[in-house]
Amino acid sequence: MARVDLDGNPITPITICMIGAGGFIGSHLCEKLMSETPHTVLAVDVYDDKIRHLIEPQGSHPWSSRIEFHRINIKHDSRLEGLIKMSDLTVNLAAICTPADYNTRPLDTIYSNFIDALPVVKYCSENSKRLIHFSTCEVYGKTIGCFLPKDSPLRQDPAYYVLKEDESPCIFGPIEKQRWSYACAKQLIERLIYAEGAENGLEFTIVRPFNWIGPRMDFIPGIDGPSEGVPRVLACFSNNLLRREPLKLVDGGQSQRTFVYIKDAIEAVLLMIENPARANGHIFNVGNPNNEVTVRQLAEMMTDVYSKVSGEPSVETPTIDVSSKEFYGEGYDDSDKRIPDMTIINKQLGWNPKTSLWDLLESTLTYQHKTYAEAIKKAISKPAAT
Ligand code: NAD
Ligand code: UDP
Repeated sequence: MARVDLDGNPITPITICMIGAGGFIGSHLCEKLMSETPHTVLAVDVYDDKIRHLIEPQGSHPWSSRIEFHRINIKHDSRLEGLIKMSDLTVNLAAICTPADYNTRPLDTIYSNFIDALPVVKYCSENSKRLIHFSTCEVYGKTIGCFLPKDSPLRQDPAYYVLKEDESPCIFGPIEKQRWSYACAKQLIERLIYAEGAENGLEFTIVRPFNWIGPRMDFIPGIDGPSEGVPRVLACFSNNLLRREPLKLVDGGQSQRTFVYIKDAIEAVLLMIENPARANGHIFNVGNPNNEVTVRQLAEMMTDVYSKVSGEPSVETPTIDVSSKEFYGEGYDDSDKRIPDMTIINKQLGWNPKTSLWDLLESTLTYQHKTYAEAIKKAISKPAAT
């Protein structure tokens, strides 16, 4: 049966230039597009490890003729414009997006999230190509509510914390808190894309992911990434659990996050890809407002889930407190709370997240255990180099 869009029209196959296709989100989006749609992907990245199973062995998959990997660094490669011209749609995922980099490598962060994205926007605009650009929920920064006195009853009022695409302000800390270099660069590229839409008719959609998590997110330090590297919280806590170390709670683990399962979120992106008339000109929050926890609660739940999936009891001291200065260095700051308003994505695309936090942690930690437990055991048992 022919696949149809939300308005009942048949979906015609398109070619998508996906920049950052070799990353966490890109790998899941490529999988979805290959297994469930007729679309073609020109996958651009400097790495291909996370999508190699879709590309190799060449010619061996039913979708082999529909995916092509281009090892390109978009900072300096003239082939990029040609690939955008050959495509109907560009999806830009490329970015430095790990908080440990924002205050320690602020220049790389700003270049990656703003300067390197500029030519992509320009080529799309000049060649009248549609663009889906990945921004972040971090453009909202801090909630209005966090500036109220600690005991103010207004803190309980959603008007002071729910984040709305078309109403909420973007509230960042001072310049010396370099944590905000990422959010600020993302905000400026959003404004530029929006202006290209207003002044030059660029057809765009902006996605603001709210803590998407699942298999293949980031890396496990010392196994498939640098031993001193600091990934995002899911991989940090997975690494601690795999090594049977306490989970480190930054500044008491009081910050709140809502986590959404990557597979739910990818459904939303596919709806955007296949329903341009409903998605163009919009900024979409994509998250799960029902899955809110403090980082401390996340650590506790991950400890319980991991103990279930690994069959090993948890360690005696499951968490320890560390200061943000110790963990991230000077210039770190944090978003206090992130609840996405879902009105716009609901109205335009009828999308809702489905997976509970417990269920998404269970499938993700099962994957982490299967993928890394043996490698960690080996790494731990090796005598330290002299
Ligand atoms: P990721 O780091 O796994 O993926 C980014 C990919 O872009 C990587 O594979 C990287 O190699 C590639 N890349 C970076 N610079 C490049 C360059 N110059 N040339 C070619 N390739 C380059 O991150 P992700 O979680 O998949 O995030 C994708 C996008 O979504 C990013 O823009 C990020 O800011 C945004 N985002 C993600 C989340 C989340 O919850 N995962 C939250 C907020 C925002
Ligand atoms: N965090 C933590 N311990 C860790 C890693 C992260 O307490 O080992 C905290 C971090 O300070 C932040 C939250 O977890 O409050 C989420 O961090 P993440 O790296 O996922 O990125 P963010 O949601 O801030 O963009």
